[in-house]
Amino acid sequence: MVEAASGVRTFSPKAFKEAVKIRADYHALPLAGGTDLMVKYRKPAGNLPDFKNPVIFIGQLDELKYIETDSKVSGEILHIGSGTKLSALLENAYIPEILKEAVSQIAAPGIRNMATIGGNICNSSPAGDTIPVLYCLDAVLVLTSENGEREVAVDNFIKGPGKNDLKSDELLREIKFPLKNFDRILYRKVGTRKANALSKLSFAGFARLDAGKIEDLKIAFGAVAPVVIRSQEIEKTIVGKNQSEISKGLAEIKKNYGRLIRPIDDQRSTAVYRKETALKLLEYFLAYAVWAEQL
Ligand SMILES: Cc1cc2nc3c(=O)[nH]c(=O)nc-3n(C[C@H](O)[C@H](O)[C@H](O)COP(=O)(O)OP(=O)(O)OC[C@H]3O[C@@H](n4cnc5c(N)ncnc54)[C@H](O)[C@@H]3O)c2cc1C
Repeated sequence: MVEAASGVRTFSPKAFKEAVKIRADYHALPLAGGTDLMVKYRKPAGNLPDFKNPVIFIGQLDELKYIETDSKVSGEILHIGSGTKLSALLENAYIPEILKEAVSQIAAPGIRNMATIGGNICNSSPAGDTIPVLYCLDAVLVLTSENGEREVAVDNFIKGPGKNDLKSDELLREIKFPLKNFDRILYRKVGTRKANALSKLSFAGFARLDAGKIEDLKIAFGAVAPVVIRSQEIEKTIVGKNQSEISKGLAEIKKNYGRLIRPIDDQRSTAVYRKETALKLLEYFLAYAVWAEQL
């Protein structure tokens, strides 16, 4: 343990087990890449960040940096250590293309070399770019405390902007999801510019086709409500339909999603723009992108 000049206690464990114990003993704030936390606790230039709690550095833990697959009876599962850098996701052959697409639009290379996937999830911003994709991938989070591990689906973990189900003695150890093939994928981030801009809104769509009909479908919207929006109920009403049936039902589908999309006005965009653009992306995906030979 070190006491920084600012008076905050900091810990730099060498092993994950040690980190879990420190988290339990001091309820220390986990700092992985620090790209959210150093902004959140920043002070005017020349001053140290103003952390309220002891801080536990976890970005140095190699045990949290891995991307592995295992083949179980139910299919191949991808396991990603929470400390995996965003830039490492872009370089790995197992990471689904749509997750790479979302990650490639986060910040800029310098930030992606520091930032972790675990930090993006635990920051729990509705504008977090990996989150709509992880909702569609049915990602499960493995949370570790001294009492053992528990698993929570990502959509049950995130409770609101900056709010989640992480207990004060827990660390996120792993993100895992089944690797499935989809014929059509679309990730669109609408931001002010191409780099270093948080989403005004985002859209993730996955579709698998069979004999001209949608056989499997996953759709999620980011930054248009307090949490990412995904409705398996609405998805079920679309599965099994062909292009002309979807065209006919599009107004109803948009109305159904429109009830869930409840954006806010803020410094990045207006509620009206967010809602209209989100529904336009939905229409583009269902009416065109799913059926196009090539996107
Ligand atoms: C200039 C700039 C541009 C950005 N642009 C984008 C963008 O376009 N899209 C986007 O989504 N984000 C963006 N971000 C936000 C940020 O880079 C990402 O959210 C990043 O993934 C956070 O990861 P980190 O490791 O730096 O998190 P940290 O800052 O270390 O932590 C973030 C939160 O997660 C918690 N945490 C981290 N790891 C764990 C763990 N293993 N267990 C439990 N809790 C944990 C921390 O306590 C903290 O609450 C941007 C940030 C900056 C500074």
